Amino acid sequence: MLTVEGLSASYGAVQALRDVSFSAAARSVTAVLGANGAGKTTLLRAMTSLVRPTSGRVVFDGKQMTGLAVEQVVRHGMAHVPEGRGVLIDLTVEENLRLGALARRRPRDLRRSLDRVYELFPALRERRRRAASTLSGGERQMLAIGRALAAEPKALLLDEPSLGLAPIVVAQVMEVVRGLAEEDGITVVLVEQNVRSALSIAARAVVLNLGRVVADAESGELAGDEQLRHHYLGY
Ligand code: ATP
Repeated sequence: MLTVEGLSASYGAVQALRDVSFSAAARSVTAVLGANGAGKTTLLRAMTSLVRPTSGRVVFDGKQMTGLAVEQVVRHGMAHVPEGRGVLIDLTVEENLRLGALARRRPRDLRRSLDRVYELFPALRERRRRAASTLSGGERQMLAIGRALAAEPKALLLDEPSLGLAPIVVAQVMEVVRGLAEEDGITVVLVEQNVRSALSIAARAVVLNLGRVVADAESGELAGDEQLRHHYLGY
């Protein structure tokens, strides 16, 4: 459903992605793993047109995304939750969600998309009139995911949602992400440094090293490959 074909991208002389290809299936989580600087963030940015690839293409739902403007990519149903969450801390929880809803693919009842987000994250409903600055790290991550969901995406690209969160909160976030794939039918691409958590919910995983794909396998198979884990995943 979501296919990356031969994608390369550079920042000046630094080639961050080299001929990256993989597919992410619908209704499942595909993890993208690798050390710092492996190219994970650049991959997500190139997939949503935030970085212009030097070659290759991204095809989603039968349509080529490469070359489209970011807002067109979002309207086709791909949403990106950036590393560091990117919530607007001076706005209230609901204002952040309404901003996300501006990018909805179909101009349906706004209330309905917000209610779905509140159903997934009851803590956000309770805090909907509070400034995002008053939220905990975990709640901010939920707000960032909620804001992307308010656009009613068919694919969700998550950049290190576990970063800086306590283990119990990481587990909660991962459960929500699993549900979005398996119950809501969203195609999820999950970039993570937290390899164990990512593999616990991913059906497949792609490992990047210096911008190249060095492994692409079912997550169980990958978790069982000791050499690969040592070499590229640091455990
Ligand atoms: P991290 O987990 O640290 O975010 P990553 O796997 O997401 O790492 P990227 O952030 O995609 O990796 O970086 C890939 C390469 O591109 C690295 O060598 C990095 O230094 C370089 N890079 C990333 N962003 C820029 C930029 N804006 N300008 C120049 N080089 C960059």
